[in-house]
Amino acid sequence: MRILIADPSRTTQRVLAIILSEACHEAVGVLCGSDVLGALATDDSIDVLITSFELPDMTGLDLCREARRSPGDRSPLYIFAMSASVSDARIAEALDSGADDFIGKPPSRVEFFARLRAAQRVILAQNELVRLATVDLLTDLPNRRAFFLRAGSLIRHADDERSELALVLFDIDHFKSINDRFGHDAGDAVLRGIGEIVGGSGLRGARIGGEEFGVLIADVGFDHAMQRAETLRSAVQAASFSTISNELSVTISLGIARYRHGESLGSLMKRADVALYAAKSGGRNRLLAASEEMHPPTDSMAVAGAGTAPA
Ligand code: GH3
Ligand code: MG
Ligand code: MG
Repeated sequence: MRILIADPSRTTQRVLAIILSEACHEAVGVLCGSDVLGALATDDSIDVLITSFELPDMTGLDLCREARRSPGDRSPLYIFAMSASVSDARIAEALDSGADDFIGKPPSRVEFFARLRAAQRVILAQNELVRLATVDLLTDLPNRRAFFLRAGSLIRHADDERSELALVLFDIDHFKSINDRFGHDAGDAVLRGIGEIVGGSGLRGARIGGEEFGVLIADVGFDHAMQRAETLRSAVQAASFSTISNELSVTISLGIARYRHGESLGSLMKRADVALYAAKSGGRNRLLAASEEMHPPTDSMAVAGAGTAPA
């Protein structure tokens, strides 16, 4: 596991890191709470935080509470509070502040390793729950829920940095006729194949409805985002999807909207959705850009679901 140790003493950090390396964990030491929060915000691979009660800029208990406020799309974090003074009240205080477990300082090796193994079991189970809740089982792409979490955090990023963000919605053309002519399994094979194209494109794509997908393109100019979406359209058109008895080809229609700072996710989705349906009525197998006119606040989930059943 990747473990962050927050302690004002470099010696304590070093001793703990050596103990942790014996159990094949990778440990990084930091001196204060703000360094922990910075690391958690930028490094999603940190599984465990071990924090002392006494840090120079905040108490370990405040750090536990702050660390628990991390965004919903961060992977699970297991927190140990660590203190040289062990009492029932101190342990209760730590657990009530958001710590998962408490260890004495310095910890007893055997007990520490056993507690780390317990932490690892919890983390594995939590990661599996997150996977089940956020990954679409047919295509292996992020699902609708993960897409909304990611879109929310990219909108916050775009607002903070005044940076670019584009949202693409696309839908397979005449997909019902694939199911009708070749069977549901053939339809599933096409969906999986499109999942592979989206997954292999390096774009942040998700399956957000039955045969509807969303892609978020951040930090590049809108013309470039349009090119990426157009590349996706032509890759699908060129692809051949193998089913048990046939090689099938399909096309997609796409709507793309450029995020306008301050706009709600619901409005952005609505604009991309309107562009997508204009692409459909304009003849399909094409990409259309959305109008720049924002929509009034609306329930983004309802907007995103327009025209498709949830996966
Ligand atoms: P359009 O070009 O207007 O998008 O037409 P369409 O036929 O693609 O759209 P329509 O909404 O009429 O049909 C979508 C179909 O997608 C109907 C539904 O049975 C099918 N579908 C949704 N989810 C799945 C799935 O998981 N597997 C399969 N095989 N089919 C699915
Ligand atoms: Mg369709
Ligand atoms: Mg549809």
